[in-house]
Amino acid sequence: SAADPAAGAAVKAADRAHVFHSWSAQGLIDPLPIAGAEGSYFWDYDGNRYLDFSSQLVNTNIGHQHPKVVAAIQEQAAKLCTIAPGFAVDVRSEAARLVAERTPGDLDKIFFTNGGAEAVENAVRMARLHTGRAKVLSAYRSYHGATATAINLTGDPRRWPSDTASAGVIHFWGPFLYRSAFHAETEEQECERALAHLEQTIAFEGPQSIAAIILETVPGTAGIMVPPAGYLAGVREICDRHGIVFILDEVMAGFGRTGHWFAADHFGVTPDLLTFAKGVNSGYVPLGGVAISAEIAATFDQRPYPGGLTYSGHPLACASAVATMNAMAEEGIVENAADIGERVIGPALREIADRHPSVGEVRGLGVFWALDLVKNKETREPLVPYNASGAANAPMAEFAAACKRGGLWPFVNMNRTHVVPACTVTEAEAKEGLAALDEALTAADAHTV
Ligand code: PLP
Repeated sequence: SAADPAAGAAVKAADRAHVFHSWSAQGLIDPLPIAGAEGSYFWDYDGNRYLDFSSQLVNTNIGHQHPKVVAAIQEQAAKLCTIAPGFAVDVRSEAARLVAERTPGDLDKIFFTNGGAEAVENAVRMARLHTGRAKVLSAYRSYHGATATAINLTGDPRRWPSDTASAGVIHFWGPFLYRSAFHAETEEQECERALAHLEQTIAFEGPQSIAAIILETVPGTAGIMVPPAGYLAGVREICDRHGIVFILDEVMAGFGRTGHWFAADHFGVTPDLLTFAKGVNSGYVPLGGVAISAEIAATFDQRPYPGGLTYSGHPLACASAVATMNAMAEEGIVENAADIGERVIGPALREIADRHPSVGEVRGLGVFWALDLVKNKETREPLVPYNASGAANAPMAEFAAACKRGGLWPFVNMNRTHVVPACTVTEAEAKEGLAALDEALTAADAHTV
């Protein structure tokens, strides 16, 4: 569409006057006004088009404005916009059936929420009521959402300002060989030592006091650390031995992102509760949920579940989820994510890493990849300090600006850039984005020593 800078300026002026933004110092932000989006691209009012390698907070797995999903929302809006959660309604029933069909094992009951944080809140509530225990263990280097329990569970600096430290949350270290907390040199050692560390944490906290362990199947925002073979199966075994509920958070990793419907499918592990959001309908209408095992669901057969939301299973959200899951199946979108990831993105990123002194490690799977940027490949010192802001963060800000100049919208967190395009990304689009990334990394290389 034609550029219209005046319209963009008006959008931005109203934003700055009235919109209070997430995670931001309101006086220091400069949000880009967006005019439209389609597939793997979005564009502004000045005539700039960006290839979206962030998928909007790793959300639009099916790409922007998928016609089947847009049509489903329009049809549902004309039919029934809303209905209270207590009724049975066709699109909610069908969305639950389709999610249950895809989740591993006996996770066959679905509690719908409006997003990921609420899914985590409710999963933890279910685990506490099911076990009669209070504590929950979660990993450092994790993100679980910004509501009260979810932010306490989070293992990154976003927790610090909201940490009540009284919510019964205990943090431990998960496996991450490149920056090992256990001085491990192989994935086998990392796995073994991370499991031993978890066992010790449980022993010293008291297994009888622990309701749940929550892990992202593949930690996302914290750095896309694919767990070593055997780790998640080891956690499953520890949970079983101590009667602890195992929660896998698949809000970011689920619905095709890793090249399977769920990341848990890569590891053959079934949790007791699985949280989802984002990719279930690519965020076209807010939706999340908890998939619940038969055993935990049975706890609430005769005893009321003490939780609910006005918008639980909202018809517009469920209609868009049904259309999304059906379109993903019909169009082979999960298979595309696996294929592009293995055949195009992974090999290209490894080749890029070989040529750029700033790329310390490449890791990932499907359309879920991270580049760990460093000052020096030998020392592995991060390109910017942990939780850098202001001037300290300049190298990453320069890198991001270089991407945008090249028509690429990057995902950047601390010293990392994540390559997380839509699961629908074509080979040509992936190559276009990788070329822009390659070019922009010279800005990061300039800060290596
Ligand atoms: N859990 C994980 C793994 C996430 O990545 C996120 C969001 O990025 C959340 C939970 C929170 O989801 P929401 O922002 O929808 O509340």
